Amino acid sequence: MKALVLEEKGKLSLREFDIPGALGPKDVRIKTHTVGICGSDVHYYTHGKIGHFIVNAPMVLGHEAAGTVIETGVDVTHLKPGDRVCMEPGIPDPTSRAAKLGIYNVDPAVTFWATPPIHGCLTPEVIHPAAFTYKLPENVSFAEGAMVEPFAIGMQAALRARIQPGDVAVVTGAGPIGMMVALAALAGGCARVIVADLAQPKLDIIGAYDGIETVNIRNRPLAEAVAEATDGWGADIVFECSGAAPAILGMAAHARPGGAIVLVGMPVDPVPVDIVALQAKELRVETVFRYANVYDRAIALIASGKVDLKPLISASIPFADSIAGFDRAVEARDTDVKLQIVMPE
Ligand code: ZN
Repeated sequence: MKALVLEEKGKLSLREFDIPGALGPKDVRIKTHTVGICGSDVHYYTHGKIGHFIVNAPMVLGHEAAGTVIETGVDVTHLKPGDRVCMEPGIPDPTSRAAKLGIYNVDPAVTFWATPPIHGCLTPEVIHPAAFTYKLPENVSFAEGAMVEPFAIGMQAALRARIQPGDVAVVTGAGPIGMMVALAALAGGCARVIVADLAQPKLDIIGAYDGIETVNIRNRPLAEAVAEATDGWGADIVFECSGAAPAILGMAAHARPGGAIVLVGMPVDPVPVDIVALQAKELRVETVFRYANVYDRAIALIASGKVDLKPLISASIPFADSIAGFDRAVEARDTDVKLQIVMPE
């Protein structure tokens, strides 16, 4: 079967590649339909590693996927051939202590698509555990189904934040994840969400949603905008989604006394943090690593119409043009939000 293979840093090929594996009793075989290109896929392409995850051997990319079930293992009861589904890419050991605690995203044994050495799903067929495969409602498209994975991170952040109705939130960083966080925060009950970034095209896209205000920090200090929006009190929640050191150093200043900071963005290098600035307001600090137990909620919000992810899809690229799609993802970082690859029929 053809697959999009990252041979090594900077070198992609679309070639025959067989991902080893057989359909187990609790698995489903899925014909992939749509696969989103994630920042992590692009980072592996351009850098060959993320932290201690290093691409040492050819690896199939892609982990944001939707498709159609074509075969089910003998023990699978909740899915059948023909079901349209999306797939959760991180699979824990179900007997692990983390899984038993419901925090399977931080199970040390978790395997995750397109995180070395595990192959991803940019290939026409995949085998996946049925327990991590979710049926899409009729009114949710494959394109939206492939957006569930990045939206799940927004959901995890919104849940960790413990939003109260009417909260004011700040989101630093308007990349795809910052946008997902902003939309999940709104759906979770925030009255206002202020999104800050340097890239105006992205701010224009997310600023088109009701309830979201934007600040281009090239033109205006975020502190000033937050002070104006909250009468100098500060935001109830600050979601740090940029991973950029200046934003991390500044985040405590935007929070109200007793508010919360949710760390979503991942800095490439260690960043020093002003602990006293956090203590002086007694801020609650939460961290987010992927997600656990949020897919059903994410799909329900999309199906309800309360969250519309369609405006965030910048382009659909045929599988045959995947490599050009990845090069566009590298170059158009400040204008595109989400590029998706569509598999041949
Ligand atoms: Zn992703």
